[in-house]
Amino acid sequence: HLSPRLKAILGLIPQSKCLADIGSDHAHLPLRAIQDHIVDTAIAGEVRRGPFQQSLKNVQDSGMQTVIDVRLGDGLDVLTKDEANSIVIAGMGGELIRDILERGKSKLGMDTVLILQPNIREYNVRQWLNDHGWTITDERIIEEEPHFYEIIQAKQKVVTGTLTETELLMGPVLLRRKDPTFIKKWRSREQKLINVLRALNKAGDTELIQHKKVKSETELKRIQDC
Ligand code: SAM
Repeated sequence: HLSPRLKAILGLIPQSKCLADIGSDHAHLPLRAIQDHIVDTAIAGEVRRGPFQQSLKNVQDSGMQTVIDVRLGDGLDVLTKDEANSIVIAGMGGELIRDILERGKSKLGMDTVLILQPNIREYNVRQWLNDHGWTITDERIIEEEPHFYEIIQAKQKVVTGTLTETELLMGPVLLRRKDPTFIKKWRSREQKLINVLRALNKAGDTELIQHKKVKSETELKRIQDC
């Protein structure tokens, strides 16, 4: 039984030969991708020994050890270039996902499909993609209360064009689609920023407060303008 978040990630994995799930934790995603015949083989990468062993056990318990290779290692270090057709990096902060991509970019081939699910700071992930020749081909937003999760699918760029600040923040596909969940997330963020600004306006006038005010006002304006 997969959570709505993992189901949405699964839905963005293209039918292909090999999937790599980096930071797999329990290997639930590669197990399901094989069972659903989305991919023929998978690699589950984990940097921590505990989750690595748990993945290994889950894979063995389901008799999948010939098609899922569980590997211990940091980020994309566990892969050789072009070994995986699609790579999932999910359930981590946006900065960490960006750093994993940056450190491992030599492992990414022209046809690699990335499926990325930052828990926070999606902006950093989109910015890295935008700066490194990737185009966002699809996105999903789902709610698992109290969290909103965004999932980004990207391929190496076929068309040129850079994302605007608003697209980096909110996601180009999500902005076009404006799902009810997307509206809900940004209404709630808008309200939060209004409250933050109200508090900051009462809080005096140091440089730090001024900086925070400008940051919040800029984000609020982007939300209200879209
Ligand atoms: N991907 C799964 C999901 O979305 O449900 C598990 C998410 S879990 C919160 C994050 C996992 O990433 C942890 O098991 C952690 O050990 C692993 N991780 C963190 N940094 C990593 C890295 N540099 N390389 C590989 N795995 C990493």
